[in-house]
Amino acid sequence: MNTYKRQHVAFERGEGCWLWDKQGKRYLDALAGIAVVGIGHSHPKFVQALTAQAAKLIHTSNVYEIEHQEALGERLAAVSGMDEIFFCNSGCEANEAAIKIARLYGHHKGIEMPAIIVMEKAFHGRTIATLSATGSRKVQAGFEPLVPGFARVPFDDLAAVRKVAENNRNVVAVLVELIQGEGGINICHDDYLHGLREICDANGWLLMLDEVQSGVGRTGKWFAFQHSGVKPDVVTLAKGLASGVPIGACFAAGAATGVFKPGNHGSTFGGNPLACAAALTTLDIIEHDKLMANAVAMGELIHARFAAQLKGVAGVRDIRHKGLMVGIELEYPCDELVKNALAAGLLINVTNDNVVRLLPPLVIKRDEVEQLVAILSPLIADFLARARAAQPAVKTA
Ligand code: PLP
Repeated sequence: MNTYKRQHVAFERGEGCWLWDKQGKRYLDALAGIAVVGIGHSHPKFVQALTAQAAKLIHTSNVYEIEHQEALGERLAAVSGMDEIFFCNSGCEANEAAIKIARLYGHHKGIEMPAIIVMEKAFHGRTIATLSATGSRKVQAGFEPLVPGFARVPFDDLAAVRKVAENNRNVVAVLVELIQGEGGINICHDDYLHGLREICDANGWLLMLDEVQSGVGRTGKWFAFQHSGVKPDVVTLAKGLASGVPIGACFAAGAATGVFKPGNHGSTFGGNPLACAAALTTLDIIEHDKLMANAVAMGELIHARFAAQLKGVAGVRDIRHKGLMVGIELEYPCDELVKNALAAGLLINVTNDNVVRLLPPLVIKRDEVEQLVAILSPLIADFLARARAAQPAVKTA
């Protein structure tokens, strides 16, 4: 179906941060399949583990015990501090599980119409429930009626959440991305998560974090919430967890533990031996190759280099980063930069109309950062010069 505005290029093979198209042209991949291939393309250890598992066993069913799933569950519980995990196949499914946990939790408390607080500019997926939770009219338009039971507030605004607490007795949970990815790499303030935890505790709500894009080492810790020391009740994960083999996960702790009982939820593929072997190997590689420390160092380097190269360039509004989630906000809608970068052998993304988003593999090296900055800075400067000449009015949202 005609669901994607595709770039006209097809890749044939990859290695680390590089992809090659059918004509043999090489591209620096600063997107990693949208925060998926953290360990880089075709990591030898990953390829070996995946092929070995494929030769042995790919799929059985969740009606049987699955050793790899148990091992992955134990491993993820250890690195996250969470107590229970449900495995599915994508980020939106992980969030569906979180939404169902919140509703069931509410019903157990006698709340008949449970509501979840969600944020403006949030992105939680494209199923009917998760697009209803998403804070973007573009994503929702045409798919009404939306699923009820979501109360929306501005991101990073504790007063707005407190106000809902005073007025809406149906609220049972808050669902939030600590770093909004699709929304434009919007990073919450340091005290935001502590504040949300306090409000949730005071009201008996679940604190639910969507770490689908920010998880698995991308911000320099396994999870973005681990920068704060706050423990959530529910966490969702997908994207980077199995380096491109589809997997999603919904974690529960505290009051969210034990909400689901047999029959409440399920998945045919979720957590099968192949996906779990891929995830276990991904975690091994991130740990062994010290990729989280690299994400911190390379994120700082990318920020510093762009700040230096774009200093004084009119039309650059802000440069933001947490580890290897990087956003360069411009004053103009800049979709054309994706095509310009592609022609120059660089893969990037533009989100929320005017934010250049970089989500490179966690394995990116210093010289690759230098190449990224050397290609992209002049493209941005050139674009802005043309945009300012053509349309002096700036985007304000
Ligand atoms: N949540 C966040 C924060 C995301 O960034 C995404 C995808 O971009 C999703 C959920 C949906 O994930 P998926 O496309 O795997 O359903």
